[in-house]
Amino acid sequence: MAVLEIIKYGHPTLIKKAVPIKNIDDRVIALAQNMAQTMKAAPGIGLAAPQVNQSLRLITVDLSIGKNEKDLFILINPEIVSQEGELIEFEGCLSVPEIQEKVIRPSQIIVKGIDLQGKEKIIEAKDLLARVLCHEIDHINGRLFIDRLSPLKRSLIRKKLKKIMEKSRIS
Ligand code: ZN
Repeated sequence: MAVLEIIKYGHPTLIKKAVPIKNIDDRVIALAQNMAQTMKAAPGIGLAAPQVNQSLRLITVDLSIGKNEKDLFILINPEIVSQEGELIEFEGCLSVPEIQEKVIRPSQIIVKGIDLQGKEKIIEAKDLLARVLCHEIDHINGRLFIDRLSPLKRSLIRKKLKKIMEKSRIS
């Protein structure tokens, strides 16, 4: 297993709609395991394949950050089948340095996907788990959480991010 590089805001892969996975081959299994490792090392509670520069519909989520094995979800081709309610909470992203903003997300969702064994998984999630799943599914659709903010807020954040990214290139 390996810790992969997490690409940052401005990278073209982050705004691309990722393609579905047709075969769960060794490459996909290795990618999923490396993503779980990368997420834990970051540390983060969710990661999507585009964030490690793989334009594939694969996400990992673990609210326990490696503490509880049963909290790790590896989902292939995940999709939201239903959602209800609204919750506004601060959100951040491993690919969007230093920015945390309040984002509206459904308070409850049902997500359907496939696990690494090829079995269909149905996950009923609420609160933080629902939020993380929505955030990661956005990633595989080429959306970042800042895309969900108001146009005014978004343009302010883009300016801020430009400065943050320039600073990180120089140092
Ligand atoms: Zn993210």
